[in-house]
Amino acid sequence: SIMPATLSAISNGARHGILVKGGVHLENLSHLEAIAFDKTGTLTKGKPEVTEVFVKEGLEKEDLIWKAASIESHSNHPLAQAIVKYAKKNIKKELFHPDSLEDVPGWGVKAEVNGERWKIGKAAFVGKENVERFADGRAKDLSSLGNTLVFIEIDGELCAMVAMKDVVRDETKLAIDHLKKQGIRTVMLTGDSEKTARAIAAESHVDEFFAECLPEEKVEQLKQLKEKYKTVAMVGDGINDAPALAIANVGIAMGGGTDVALETADIVLMKNDLPRISEAIRLSQRMNKII
Ligand code: ADP
Ligand code: MG
Repeated sequence: SIMPATLSAISNGARHGILVKGGVHLENLSHLEAIAFDKTGTLTKGKPEVTEVFVKEGLEKEDLIWKAASIESHSNHPLAQAIVKYAKKNIKKELFHPDSLEDVPGWGVKAEVNGERWKIGKAAFVGKENVERFADGRAKDLSSLGNTLVFIEIDGELCAMVAMKDVVRDETKLAIDHLKKQGIRTVMLTGDSEKTARAIAAESHVDEFFAECLPEEKVEQLKQLKEKYKTVAMVGDGINDAPALAIANVGIAMGGGTDVALETADIVLMKNDLPRISEAIRLSQRMNKII
C-alpha cells in the first residue's frame, strides 16, 4: 500500500505541474546524483530558424531550397520544419512529393527528385572533408556561434549549406544552476556537431556535454553515467529520446514532447518547465525524511 507521505508528495507535485507516475520514482529522485538532458526541444526551444543559406556558384538558390523543402516537408525533425518554414516564407511555390524518400535517423534524409539523388543532413552524412572548404570556411564560425548546419548533396556533389539557430529556453540557465547547487552533475547529450554543442552547453551552464551522439549512442552514454553515478535521470522530449528515458533510473519528459516520450517517462513536466525538476527533487527529499 502507498504511504500517506508518498501520496501527499505525488498530489503536491501534480498541483505544481509535476506528474509523477509512482512513489518509487520520487524515491529514486531523492537520491539523484546526475541528470542528462537532450539538447533540442529540452534545453532549447526546439524551434530553429534559418539564419543563412549558402548555395554553390552557378546553382539557382530558390529552386534548390524549394526542392529541399519539398523533401523535408515529409520529415517531422525540427530542422526539417525550419527549412520548410523558410521556403514557405521566401518562395511562393507549392511544395511537391519527391519520387522516393528515406529517413536516416540521426543523420538526415535521402530522396530522389527527377532522377537526381539528394541527401540532406549533417556534415558526416555528405562527406566531412568537402564541408570544411565549402562556404568560404564559414561553417566553423557559424557552428561556434551555436548554429546547427545542414548540408545538401545532389548526385554526390555538395551544393548547399543551411545554417539554423535554435534558442536556449529563458529558464534553462536558472534550472541548471539550481541543480548544480543541489550537488547534481548536469550533462547534455546531442546528435549535433562538437562546435555547436559546445556553444549551447556554455549558454546552458551544463557541467559536461557529449556531441555527435547517434540515437543508440545516447543510450550508451546513459549506461556509462549509471556506472559513474548511483542514480541518473534523463530529460527529453522526442521519439529519439525514448530509449534513453527508459534506461535512466528516472525518465523525465517535457509535457509538450511526443507521445512516446510522455508514455516512456516516469515523470512528466506538464508545462515544459525545467526549474520544476529542482522542485520535484526537494519534494522527494522531504517525503523521504517523513517516511
Ligand atoms: P538532436 O540530438 O539535436 O535531436 P538528431 O540526432 O535528431 O539531433 O540529428 C543529428 C543531426 O543530424 C542534426 O544536427 C542534423 O545535422 C542531422 N539531421 C537529422 N535529421 C535531419 C533532417 N530531417 N534534415 C536535416 N538534417 C537532419
Ligand atoms: Mg529533442
